[in-house]
Amino acid sequence: MQSKIVLLPGDGIGPEVVHQAQRVLETIAKRFGHQLQFSEHLIGGIAIDATGDALPDATTVACKSADAILLGAVGGPKWDDPNAKTRPEAGLLKIRKELGLFANLRPIVTFDELLDSSPLKREIIEGTDILFYRELTGGLYFGPSGLEELADGQQRAFSTAVYTTSEVERIVRMAALAAQKRRNKLTMVDKANVLEASRLWRRVSARIMKEEFPSIEYDVVLVDSMAMHLLSRPTSFDVVVTSNMFGDILTDEASMLPGSLGMLPSASLGSDGPGLYEPIHGSAPDIAGKGIANPLATILASAMLLRHSLGLEAEAAAIESAVKAVLAAGHRTADLVRKGQPSLGTVAITEHVLAALSV
Ligand code: NAD
Repeated sequence: MQSKIVLLPGDGIGPEVVHQAQRVLETIAKRFGHQLQFSEHLIGGIAIDATGDALPDATTVACKSADAILLGAVGGPKWDDPNAKTRPEAGLLKIRKELGLFANLRPIVTFDELLDSSPLKREIIEGTDILFYRELTGGLYFGPSGLEELADGQQRAFSTAVYTTSEVERIVRMAALAAQKRRNKLTMVDKANVLEASRLWRRVSARIMKEEFPSIEYDVVLVDSMAMHLLSRPTSFDVVVTSNMFGDILTDEASMLPGSLGMLPSASLGSDGPGLYEPIHGSAPDIAGKGIANPLATILASAMLLRHSLGLEAEAAAIESAVKAVLAAGHRTADLVRKGQPSLGTVAITEHVLAALSV
């Protein structure tokens, strides 16, 4: 199989972790007999420095003709001036829009070897394996909003949650298809007791599930209850689908379960075209250039890329098993050990992943 992959290393530790994930992809391609063609393009602060634009046209063109995109991270203090004409994050928002990426996937998986790094008790989180589908291009963050001055000197502000039937249908369908390949369970999270937009979600989602996925175990949970259930019974969820803002908050809450930012990948997908894969952490300017960044989230993002954009399930699973084997053998980067404990750098831990892949 021949595929084109665009690498967008970005800023801070982005290039360090993306280049290690590239080595892993090259190794897996060799082992399974695939041809992956890589090209590297600018996004974020580094793109602003080079071109004045956080997402140069050349990057957009390359991404549109790729099979998949692997992104590091964007941003850093150098580009934080609030009066600047553009910011690195503008590149991220624009690429999502250009590629029509309406679904954000975030797997929340705890690794047995890292259970003690979690702020929650081992017996609660052990065995957690949730896949979130967050709607990414609608709802409260994109609906009409405004700010007006009132006659009595106050200001009045509003933001509106807007969804259409088809926007709900496409993400519920995508999440249900994923549930079929996992434990056949889907939870839809809303606030239908208060919000009209949530009532649309509830009706549309129930219809899709009844008509198209009758064998999936389906339930609905109110978002405020979900915030509690995630901390009290995370192992009872399989695939969770929800709207933009609820997903934003719940996935950040859930990201604390595994205990380290350096272990969590994510993907953004549209109905066709390339998917965008990235670690959930940022550019970590405090450790950039030191060679100590944990590359495992980006390596796990590359596994998601193989699974969701290239349809290579066995290859994806091989990477995930290799990461587990490396942790089981006791190898850790600095973010996964107590201060002062011995740890491996970015390249050294990747070498162990490569070795585990070659077994
Ligand atoms: P961050 O995720 O970059 O860092 C938070 C803390 O976690 C830091 O102490 C950092 O050293 C540590 N950390 C993060 N990733 C790590 C890794 N792989 N290995 C080891 N330690 C790791 O978040 P922040 O400090 O709030 O943001 C830094 C910059 O990143 C900001 O400019 C922010 O806007 C940007 N950011 C970008 C993205 C993105 O590109 N998707 C996401 C979040 C933040």
